[in-house]
Amino acid sequence: MQNMMQTVFLDRDGTLNEEAGYIREVDSLALIPGSALAVKRFQEAGFLTVLTTNQTGPARGYYDEDHVLALNQRVQDLLQAEAGVKLHAVYYCPHLATGSVQPYAIACHCRKPETGMIQQAQQQFPNIDLSRSYVIGDKATDVDFGHNAGCRSVLLKTGYGQRVLDGEYQTLANPPDIVADDLSDAANQILAMTVSSH
Ligand SMILES: [Mg+2]
Ligand SMILES: [Zn+2]
Repeated sequence: MQNMMQTVFLDRDGTLNEEAGYIREVDSLALIPGSALAVKRFQEAGFLTVLTTNQTGPARGYYDEDHVLALNQRVQDLLQAEAGVKLHAVYYCPHLATGSVQPYAIACHCRKPETGMIQQAQQQFPNIDLSRSYVIGDKATDVDFGHNAGCRSVLLKTGYGQRVLDGEYQTLANPPDIVADDLSDAANQILAMTVSSH
């Protein structure tokens, strides 16, 4: 299927931007060096680039949902400024079953590792080829999310990734298909395996 699209589903914190816990000041969100260029390289190779991020701040009462939107926009603005690119779509899960703030304190199907955000992407882009797509992130949750959706999973060593590899943070249900130093290295590895269809 020539026109089936490969996609990279990108985590946000610890993947595109520096992991800094719950980011209260929008201006303090900073991209990891090389992230913006990696997004550009994926797009030039014909990949859809989609953000899929769990953001429990609203459910925990740390800040409101508008703040999540502002942080996501900050990522887009920095990508634009550094590499002239913009993610094709942004999905986030603001829910947490054990949270304290309604309407966010619910059990949902969009919190990674459940696959609701990928189903949202498939509704927007019906020709995504999941079997040739990648989920890239820094937590075991991201790796499991990719496998649950039928994608290949990439664990980065940025953010929490090195601690996951060391067995100090979360537990992997199954190992990642690829381990990369950072998003730039993930682009190197994935694009080297991708035969151009152009
Ligand atoms: Mg992360
Ligand atoms: Zn959710």
